[in-house]
Amino acid sequence: MENLWTIYIEARDGTTGFGVSTGGSVASWIILHHLSRFIVGQSPWDIEKMWDQMYRATLYYGRKGIVMNAISALDLALWDLLGHIRQEPVYAMLGGSVREEILCYTTGPWPDVAKTLGFIGGKLPLPYGSASGDDGLKKNLALFRQAREEVGDDFWLMADCWMALDLPYAVELARRLAPYHLKWIEECFPPDDIWSYQSLKQALSSQILVSTGEHEATRWGFRQLLETHATDFIQPDVSWCGGITELIKIADLADAFGAWVIPHGSSVYSYHFVLTGCFCPSPRKGGIGVSVVMRYMSPAWQNLQSHGQILDKADVTRLSPLGYDHINRVGRDSFTLPEDIAHGDYRRLPTMSRSLSINWIAYRGFSFHYY
Ligand SMILES: [Mg+2]
Repeated sequence: MENLWTIYIEARDGTTGFGVSTGGSVASWIILHHLSRFIVGQSPWDIEKMWDQMYRATLYYGRKGIVMNAISALDLALWDLLGHIRQEPVYAMLGGSVREEILCYTTGPWPDVAKTLGFIGGKLPLPYGSASGDDGLKKNLALFRQAREEVGDDFWLMADCWMALDLPYAVELARRLAPYHLKWIEECFPPDDIWSYQSLKQALSSQILVSTGEHEATRWGFRQLLETHATDFIQPDVSWCGGITELIKIADLADAFGAWVIPHGSSVYSYHFVLTGCFCPSPRKGGIGVSVVMRYMSPAWQNLQSHGQILDKADVTRLSPLGYDHINRVGRDSFTLPEDIAHGDYRRLPTMSRSLSINWIAYRGFSFHYY
């Protein structure tokens, strides 16, 4: 299945907007047979109304997952379309920039390379979960010990556990990683197990920050995380949580709880949001909030350009000029995908009405492998 795809919206005057998410042909089917009726024919200015109608119309089979992937992609495309119509970057429409640059960390196996490229931290995917027992635990600890030795003291190290741990293992792992000064431990448990997140946070007493949220969606999902004090900060993915329209509400809610917002991935779509967010942490003069998938040495989603080519450590080092500076530049320049993606072979959905404002929607799928 093509699990990564772009959505393409065109207004009657020919102005276009793009959005990106996962969900592939399944999400495209949902748009074709259901969601398009709330978009085609509407005014590009009525984003809030379109979001509300899509959300309410899919409640009986949606709320999260693929349906919210589809709504998110449409929402991102609508913001992009409106930005082109108004001749304004999306961050300006969101209230304007509050910072001059975005500081980025990497997700991947080489934090030492990330440091040399100017990133502020490196997040290591945890290689061994609870199922690998004591032997796996020792290997995990050895990995972080080596990483700390390689990067020195003034560099963030984080662990991404991708929902693979149980509570006793996570508590022991975090305590034994504490000497290596981890900034945070991420997504130890399935997103619905808020009780384990609560217990982990209590057990660690802020020794290491506990984080989650990349697989959560909507203001109500994040309200539950925040009200139960299950996480020190939240990591919504703008292409999964409901798009920019919903991320604004999620972030305002987090701000009222005094919680950071560090968006998960999502490339340029996150950058525009982070530029506007006072609630995004500012360790130096910029806000952080975006992870770069280190193995591809490109911001998340922009490996569309290389169609998922996997690099080795030497390749990443050679590509270093494309690293940190490139990411900051992309964050300022555009909300839209590169030309070769923008004008590819899109499958066009049928026009619902030629007399109304938004004329048609089309989609294009890509194969995508995260790690
Ligand atoms: Mg993660």
